[in-house]
Amino acid sequence: MPPAELVAPASWRTLEFLSDVHLQAEEPATARAWMAALAKSRADALFILGDLFEVWVGDDALAHPSPFLADCLAALREFSARGALFFMHGNRDFLIGPAWLQACGAQLLADPTVLVLGHERVLLSHGDALCLGDAAYLQFRQQVRTTAWQQAFLARPLAERQAIARELRTQSQAQQAQRQREGQGYAEVDDAAASAWLHAHRARLLIHGHTHRPRRHALAPGLAREVLSDWDAQAQPPRAQVLRLQRGPDRFTLERLALPA
Ligand code: MN
Repeated sequence: MPPAELVAPASWRTLEFLSDVHLQAEEPATARAWMAALAKSRADALFILGDLFEVWVGDDALAHPSPFLADCLAALREFSARGALFFMHGNRDFLIGPAWLQACGAQLLADPTVLVLGHERVLLSHGDALCLGDAAYLQFRQQVRTTAWQQAFLARPLAERQAIARELRTQSQAQQAQRQREGQGYAEVDDAAASAWLHAHRARLLIHGHTHRPRRHALAPGLAREVLSDWDAQAQPPRAQVLRLQRGPDRFTLERLALPA
């Protein structure tokens, strides 16, 4: 299968990227900060690179949306009425499907996707597939990304899916605590694998989320990965960042916008 490519029209001057908002009704301040960012954005295209939601167990949630979900969808629709909206699956919301995309006017991107900006090529990913240090997670990922697994899971009653999601989250938190005790910290992208991806896609910059280490990580001369922030409006200082790419005549600049909570 050829690598997924998205060719940016020349009319796109401002592109924004965000990920790992982990939207949940229990964190209304973070949701408000994110909605304010969307309302304020005048980007020509907005890229949500995964884990927008803390958990998503199927698009049938859209049939009877909670007030919280309805607000989130309205914010997305409001943006997509004036700008192009793209979504890539994360490890928590990989079950977002066509109904969700249609409900908010978004287009799905494969992970990874090459964003072609004139003669520049930027690779976009959620980032979890590059965290090679966590073999158990990668095995789980491979399983849950198959059509067979997803069909079987989505065939279960909603309440059962929600219970499974809670159980998986408890397990993942226990694993994370174990990693912390062993001094391994949060999952990290394997730099050699990231460089190999960049070479394979003839790109020099990788933009990804997932690892919650928001900064530019140099990989080799001329090769880097730009890591998106996760969102937590209650943290001190609050974490709520958008990465803005501004196209010039023959190059682009990147800027991190820290948003007020
Ligand atoms: Mn993630």
